[in-house]
Amino acid sequence: MEHVIIGAGPAGVIAAETLRKVAPSAKVTIVGDEKEPPYSRMALPYYLIEKIDEKGTYLRKNGSHFQDTGINLIQDRVTSVDTRDKYLTLQKGGSVKYDRLLIATGSHPISPPIPGIDLPGVYPCWTLEDGRNIANKAKQGSDVVLMGAGFIGCIILEALAERGVNLTVIEMGDRMVPRMMNQTAGNLIKKWCQEKGVTVHTSTKVEAIEKAGGLLKKGLKVKLSNGETIKADLVISATGVKSNIQFLEGSGLETDEGILVNEYLQTNIPDIYAAGDVCQGMDFSTGEYSVQAIQPTAADHGRIAAMNMAGKKTRHQGSVNMNVLDTMGLISSSYGLWMGVKGGDSVELNDPERYRYLSLQFEDDILVGAQSLGLTEHVGVLRGLIQTRLPLGKWKDQLMKDPTRIMEAYLGATQSIGHNAGII
Ligand SMILES: Cc1cc2nc3c(=O)[nH]c(=O)nc-3n(C[C@H](O)[C@H](O)[C@H](O)COP(=O)(O)OP(=O)(O)OC[C@H]3O[C@@H](n4cnc5c(N)ncnc54)[C@H](O)[C@@H]3O)c2cc1C
Repeated sequence: MEHVIIGAGPAGVIAAETLRKVAPSAKVTIVGDEKEPPYSRMALPYYLIEKIDEKGTYLRKNGSHFQDTGINLIQDRVTSVDTRDKYLTLQKGGSVKYDRLLIATGSHPISPPIPGIDLPGVYPCWTLEDGRNIANKAKQGSDVVLMGAGFIGCIILEALAERGVNLTVIEMGDRMVPRMMNQTAGNLIKKWCQEKGVTVHTSTKVEAIEKAGGLLKKGLKVKLSNGETIKADLVISATGVKSNIQFLEGSGLETDEGILVNEYLQTNIPDIYAAGDVCQGMDFSTGEYSVQAIQPTAADHGRIAAMNMAGKKTRHQGSVNMNVLDTMGLISSSYGLWMGVKGGDSVELNDPERYRYLSLQFEDDILVGAQSLGLTEHVGVLRGLIQTRLPLGKWKDQLMKDPTRIMEAYLGATQSIGHNAGII
């Protein structure tokens, strides 16, 4: 059996290693188009603050890991998939045959349609190559403009601030991390950053990027929708991502935002599976299918898709959409249906002076979503409660009065379930 995986990110690598374990006699090949050994994008901020070097970003630190584990790693780009005769065409020439195929090609940053977006000095922060470019330009005291204060933008913000640059953040939404936090929490993060010396413009767009002009003038000018023009040595674009599905055109694979799959991560073509940022997998909270574009989901997908490829039927129960962010020392997190559900109850604790915020969302007596800011001790419990859909019983009323009693509620509710079931 020839298992072939396209994409050497976390989803692809975890899938290959799972296949190695559960199908020891099968051939496993990964085709990845980046020139470095498989690495983690999540590690890029640590590379930018020089906490790790390039090697520190590698998913597997042992240089001969893939050779040692019998995983054939091909560095090339797949240009098309022939789903009828079951082979891939490679950019450098040649083809690879497969019996079962996993597509784990991730996503790519979207370039907003702004004049000047292609000028030298404007980069996304997505690959190690981008990381090198940013590290070269983002020196102590240099002027840096960050377009986008979403999840990825805010992760980079932290690293840039640590490099000592003069940072301006431009966000089109009315608050920071608008797809992760509500108005109250998003604005608290903004205030926190401003107090730490970062300039933040929300409800503002970048309208154009131009060369600074003049003989001695280096750098760029960034024109904003609020009428301001700011100078920049470096502009970083973090305005969203899109699944890498372009090369599948004409393959017969069904796609929407990402590749469509069933609860076994199988596509409409039975021997082909999808995983990670390229896959429109099941959301645990809604039961609907969407692209989550976060690493824990990529890891879940990679493992489960590989089990199914090896013939060990494993259902994907859905991944919890969760984001944990450290913005210049302020930890924020959001889980599941953080924006609430129709007919549900919610409770909020807001202590803006101390940068503490907690909001809980319930459906009957089940916690279905949460947001927290400055309250790190609750992170594991919130996720656990949402993922297990534990009925809180009378503890829900206690939480409605004081949401900080979340740990007590968790312990109380698990014990009462054990009690009722005669376990303890
Ligand atoms: C700076 C940064 C920080 C992040 N921090 C976090 C975080 O803190 N928490 C979190 O949950 N997520 C984080 N993420 C997101 C996380 O990195 C992604 O969700 C994760 O990498 C998805 O894994 P993947 O394997 O699906 O895709 P990827 O890691 O993108 O890997 C896919 C690979 O496939 C390759 N490929 C694409 N097309 C082809 C082709 N046609 N042929 C061959 N190869 C191809 C790509 O080049 C890539 O190497 C961060 C991302 C960035 C950029």
